[in-house]
Amino acid sequence: MQLVRYTNGGAPQWGVRRDDDIVPLTGLREDVSYEQLTSPGFLRVVEDAVDAAEDQAIPASDAKLLAPVPRPGKIVCVGLNYHDHAEEQNEEVPERPLLFGKSDTSVTNPGDPIVHPADVEQVDYEVELGVVIGRTAKDVSAEEASEYIAGYTAVNDVSGRDAQFEDEQFFRGKSYDTFAPMGPTLVPESDVNPNELDVACRVNGETKQESNTEEFIFDVGEVVEYISGITTLRPGDVISTGTPGGVGIFRDPPELLEPGDTVEIEIEGIGTLRNPVVADRE
Ligand code: MG
Repeated sequence: MQLVRYTNGGAPQWGVRRDDDIVPLTGLREDVSYEQLTSPGFLRVVEDAVDAAEDQAIPASDAKLLAPVPRPGKIVCVGLNYHDHAEEQNEEVPERPLLFGKSDTSVTNPGDPIVHPADVEQVDYEVELGVVIGRTAKDVSAEEASEYIAGYTAVNDVSGRDAQFEDEQFFRGKSYDTFAPMGPTLVPESDVNPNELDVACRVNGETKQESNTEEFIFDVGEVVEYISGITTLRPGDVISTGTPGGVGIFRDPPELLEPGDTVEIEIEGIGTLRNPVVADRE
């Protein structure tokens, strides 16, 4: 099941996307929440609501899709979490996940522009599986992690490389507004195995990254165990699980994003997240 946050003129709402249409979830007694999505009973209620509201389906093309987590409590990112991405940087496989943060206000919607800042030269793309937390998690084991996850989405971990390298830490380069496109759907935890999904990134239709989450150095359970051992995760927090090889900065010569480009992030079962790149107005 692919949940979507969307608007077709009115207030943002939740729906379920099927092939070419979206069924609004208007008949639910309780609102969709990240916490509710961890409950198998609630997911059955959602399925029934979709069956009951089938005649209210709208064409997907009439909907403006929105980020499924518009205001994450926090975004915790994992660096160097695919074997091939460590190799392209000549980095050793890390002994534990490398973590960094990205500002919550960097989130932007499917279809909305990635704004290329005037003070950054090297803007880069990174396809990443996003883990949306559904229950407060502290000291959770890898085996239990799935019970704390609401679902999965796609994140483009857009990066200002020169900022990242100049500062020798990641926050500025990762946190410019619009540097976290998210979506297009949120797939409940029970519907996919997050550790065997095809992931890809295309720029102007040309494939730049192509891998599978089987290549993770630390799988989703191990990442949740590690992070929740450090800091409490809450419903609506997002973990961005790292990117495979093929990023622009390590290409020879580097291939970075420029205004006019279109970036597509595709994850199996979640869909394609497409964003144009535009220049900052300055
Ligand atoms: Mg990343």
